[in-house]
Amino acid sequence: MQKPFNKILIANRGEIAIRIIRACRELGITSVSVFSDADRDSLHVFLADEAYHIGPSPSKESYLNYRKIIEVAKTAGVDAIHPGYGFLSENTTFAKACKEAGINFIGPTPENIDAMGDKISSKALMKAAGVPTVPGSDGGVESVEDALKIAEKIGLPIIIKATAGGGGKGMRIVRKMDEMESAFRACRSEGQNYFANPTVYLEKFINDPKHIEIQVFGDKHNNHVHLFERECSVQRRNQKIIEECPSPSVPHEVRLKMGAAAVRAAKQINYVGAGTIEFIFDNTTKDFYFMEMNTRLQVEHPITEIVTGYDLVKEQIFVASGRPLSFKQEDIKQKGHAIEARICAEDPITYKPSPGVIRACRHPQGPGLRVDSYAYPGYEVPIYYDPMIAKVITFGETRDEAIDRMQRALTEFVLTGIKTNIVLHKTILDHPKFRDGSYTTQFIEKNFEVIEPLLFKEIDDPMFLIAAAITAFNDRKSKDVRQLNITSNWKRTGRKLQLRT
Ligand code: ADP
Ligand code: ADP
Ligand code: MG
Repeated sequence: MQKPFNKILIANRGEIAIRIIRACRELGITSVSVFSDADRDSLHVFLADEAYHIGPSPSKESYLNYRKIIEVAKTAGVDAIHPGYGFLSENTTFAKACKEAGINFIGPTPENIDAMGDKISSKALMKAAGVPTVPGSDGGVESVEDALKIAEKIGLPIIIKATAGGGGKGMRIVRKMDEMESAFRACRSEGQNYFANPTVYLEKFINDPKHIEIQVFGDKHNNHVHLFERECSVQRRNQKIIEECPSPSVPHEVRLKMGAAAVRAAKQINYVGAGTIEFIFDNTTKDFYFMEMNTRLQVEHPITEIVTGYDLVKEQIFVASGRPLSFKQEDIKQKGHAIEARICAEDPITYKPSPGVIRACRHPQGPGLRVDSYAYPGYEVPIYYDPMIAKVITFGETRDEAIDRMQRALTEFVLTGIKTNIVLHKTILDHPKFRDGSYTTQFIEKNFEVIEPLLFKEIDDPMFLIAAAITAFNDRKSKDVRQLNITSNWKRTGRKLQLRT
């Protein structure tokens, strides 16, 4: 088989950089990592064939410094750059700069990114392609007065969104008219501060919806397919933390309709590469509405890889090299069930990031399991970047089997020294609304009075405290037992932990 490229630079860090290095190694492609000051000891630096320092710790001076990255790419003599997700992955200037430097950008065309990067114009495009969209302002809203008028027309509640927003930032829900003014101003300033664009628009807030997204793929020969859905309704602060595939709520005929709408969307803009069309899904009526398109690989891509059997990162590399898609729509099937839990270095109750040195670290193993992680004992999780340090992905023949495996895997996951959300994941997986699949995007918020005491209960559990004390003894630097996540040496009976005999 001819290699699609000889050498690829990965303009990212952490677990996604490692995921891409793995694809390169399997394809016999030389991988090049880049790293900031804070990332000298990051696993993506050690695993790549070559690694280059690109600047100080803040993203702006390193992972977002596209000129420096292009310079390194030239020095290293790579023929392509993979941007991963976040950072420069949806940056038109960067995609163009790669092209100008004669380097292949492993992702969509700059025109594709432009068309979908702005939420207002992408919504208009989708409407034109006959894809259902959430009713709203159909364009930017300039003043509080206009916002009030539009809200009057579409009815409360509404959601104000920054057109350039992403990662759950730049959004405000308005349930009462007198909340409009402050929400409007907050949204505009968040848009300006995070995305250098204050433009906001209004959308009807769909009550208690599900987040269902469709993975799409296009090549440079006008072929477009979808790889079915992922449900990402378990969210905190409008950010996903658990995803599963297939969705327990989407009837098969609706799944096919959503897939067809997503392919229509991709065709409308001649989309090239991997992309995701996100829909808001009304679980009562089973109606769905286009929300936005992410023109890149998604964090939760592994669950689609498992259920369809295709390696999406390799496919991205092939497509970028000009090869036609290696699968046809009729070949793509969903088999079994997969779930992903995002493991973040954060307080499970306040969601505040918890950077610091990882003391003990043992990843779960065994059947039906994949772990994409860059954690290792002694590694210091930096304060500068996304707190996600690992993804635990489990699969099984049935949804119940995948859930049981996730519970088992999380119980095996030892990660001490920093706080993590592992305990939050376990509590969610135990909840009847998760088990029966009826959960929505407001699941955590609405059930917090049930979830929160369980988190404390786990933390205060006497056996847990003994476990914590022993670990603290072995690791004299940790004093706060809540920082410790002890599971490995302990047997669980229901919610109780017992010392293994
Ligand atoms: P969305 O929530 O829009 O679907 P994803 O779930 O795919 O997007 O996550 C993209 C987000 O991942 C970015 O907005 C950023 O906050 C975060 N991110 C970027 N780079 C990394 C990284 N190297 N490791 C972990 N998270 C990252
Ligand atoms: P981001 O770019 O930050 O990913 P999205 O537009 O994809 O922003 O929205 C993120 C989340 O916010 C959705 O998954 C959903 O939970 C919630 N949300 C967004 N728009 C609506 C809406 N119109 N009604 C209800 N919830 C919404
Ligand atoms: Mg989104």
